[in-house]
Amino acid sequence: MGEYGELGDVQGKRVLVRSDLNVPLDGPAGERVITDDGRVRASVPTIKTLAAAGARVVVTAHLGRPQGAPDPAYSLAPVAARLGELLGQDVAFATDTVGESATATVAGLEDGQVAVLENVRFNEGETSKDDAVRGSFADQLAQLADAFVSDGFGVVHRKQASVYDVALRLPAAMGGLVSAEIDVLRRLTHDPERPYVVVLGGSKVSDKLGVIDNLLGQADRLLIGGGMVFTFLAAQGHEVGKSLLEDDQLETCREYLGRAQESGVEIVLPTDIVVDTAFPSDDREPEPRVVAADAIPSDALGLDIGPESAERFAEAIADARTVFWNGPMGVFESAAFAAGTSAVAEALTKVDGLSVVGGGDSAAAVRQLGFDEAAFGHISTGGGASLEYLEGKELPGIAVLQR
Ligand code: ADP
Ligand code: MG
Repeated sequence: MGEYGELGDVQGKRVLVRSDLNVPLDGPAGERVITDDGRVRASVPTIKTLAAAGARVVVTAHLGRPQGAPDPAYSLAPVAARLGELLGQDVAFATDTVGESATATVAGLEDGQVAVLENVRFNEGETSKDDAVRGSFADQLAQLADAFVSDGFGVVHRKQASVYDVALRLPAAMGGLVSAEIDVLRRLTHDPERPYVVVLGGSKVSDKLGVIDNLLGQADRLLIGGGMVFTFLAAQGHEVGKSLLEDDQLETCREYLGRAQESGVEIVLPTDIVVDTAFPSDDREPEPRVVAADAIPSDALGLDIGPESAERFAEAIADARTVFWNGPMGVFESAAFAAGTSAVAEALTKVDGLSVVGGGDSAAAVRQLGFDEAAFGHISTGGGASLEYLEGKELPGIAVLQR
């Protein structure tokens, strides 16, 4: 393990950097614009450091979920252009990942120059479950470089060619971003300062159950909002109308509520909910209404925690010395349902201690709602990876660097 300094002198070396440049884009193919460049900005320091040390930097990354074949809607070209602006230097772009364009582009790099390879997921080998298929694609990637730096925190929980297999084929090290993320996660799991408060929201309860399971033994307080809260409310026997509900998780939620009580972990659920009769859409003005959490009308769906809950959540965060927050409290993309998320974000900025925001949408929400990123202790670039770490799982992209 270690910083890329351990790769030794990188002057004149071709260094393949796996970054996470998976940003949200809007608009038609060919004219796509980046709506939130947070991940590109987070990737800059490592690339800059390597270039300043004289490396020939070859950046590989994915964008969206193309089906293992080229798809212009998911081209990294606009992202490469943005990276160039942020770096303040020209960035060469290869129109394929390991083909003729990539080979020529890398061969054309001089010391200190940077190139971006086209979307690594345009190649079926990247995410293949077949070790041999992934391995042969990783062989091709490895041929483009003399060393590998793993800096895409958002993908380190994936056993994929550009994350895992390539690290078996080249001298490999952790990039500055991944190393900073891991340091923060270690502080959350090794003797966190107390009270330790965890706030969970977002859309899918089943995504987050593993982490709840593990945190019940560690956190002092667990606040639950977002779409996942309705499965908990239903588990307590309440009507949740047309809200998000995962029937098959009711029993698990009930079990967690019971275990929390036994182990003295305080679980804070909302007492009021902002509902509407339909999910926010462009063709309809939202008609938000506040109802009691145990009296959601059958024709309504819950889209945010209510004002009373927002206040209670903020109070429950106020005295924390450590906070981890993943998942928006409501459908913050619509202003009518953003107040709960905003209240939680605001409370985190006031925490005297370590405050961590994890998750792509949570981080985007913080920026979209106008908060200064510097007011948070740490904004993680990877939701899935942070959650798996907090679940106590081994992250393949980290483990492979620690061999
Ligand atoms: P993150 O990316 O931070 O881990 P998730 O991907 O789990 O977060 O969830 C983010 C999504 O959850 C947002 O798009 C938001 O609109 C949605 N969401 C939040 N609350 C609700 C709700 N009550 N009903 C439906 N979706 C919700
Ligand atoms: Mg998300």
